[in-house]
Amino acid sequence: MTAPKALVAGNWKMNGLTSSVGEIEKLARLVAEKGAGCDVLICPPATLISNLSGKGIDIGGQDCHMAVSGAHTGDISAAMLKDLGCNYVIVGHSERRADHGETNDVVKAKALAAQDQGLTAIICVGETDAEREDGSTLDVVTSQVRGSIPETAMADNTVIAYEPVWAIGTGKTPTADDVADVHAVIRNLLMDRFGDAGEKVRIQYGGSVKASNAAELMSVPNVNGALVGGASLKAEDFYGIIATY
Ligand code: PGA
Repeated sequence: MTAPKALVAGNWKMNGLTSSVGEIEKLARLVAEKGAGCDVLICPPATLISNLSGKGIDIGGQDCHMAVSGAHTGDISAAMLKDLGCNYVIVGHSERRADHGETNDVVKAKALAAQDQGLTAIICVGETDAEREDGSTLDVVTSQVRGSIPETAMADNTVIAYEPVWAIGTGKTPTADDVADVHAVIRNLLMDRFGDAGEKVRIQYGGSVKASNAAELMSVPNVNGALVGGASLKAEDFYGIIATY
């Protein structure tokens, strides 16, 4: 089976004001003029979704609640993201797992809520520095992948983002061999879970991806795109990563 079409997604985290509309317009122009051999997505803060959608770039959420609606002050639901035209939502980013104590069970419930609304869930996994140091990377990633994918998930509404926590925002990246090892383990887990369709699930790499290292990271077997933080905030920088496809 041929590799799935890559997904290069920008995670703006808690960055961007209404003035960011110009960046999305610039990105849409770059993609229209120079082309993109991958799917392109921006996940801005929820406050910006309506300003940024309809500009020619797919827009996704950074998180959703596991409930459809109700008494959950400060939260937003997958149904609300869908209502704004989103097709994707990130769940289980390591910053949410760390800052909000999200466990695999919580992440799984959020992914289920997203998929129930017709959204594709980008489920994030990845080891901390301490876990890497003690050699438990593959065990941690295995239990996160197994524990975070809903029972009813399908190959085409699931994306896995492998993001080593120690590589996020640090300028450090694993070696291509290390990325290949982890992605091969994830691919096998997806084949166990989805059968042949597991080949179609996109596995993104994330953590300090930038234009200068994207070509090497994106050519690693079983890497089907990137989840990009800092280097997604400026259209030219982000397009430099998109252009590797
Ligand atoms: P980074 O963040 O590209 O700034 O390292 C990646 C992420 O957290 O998704």
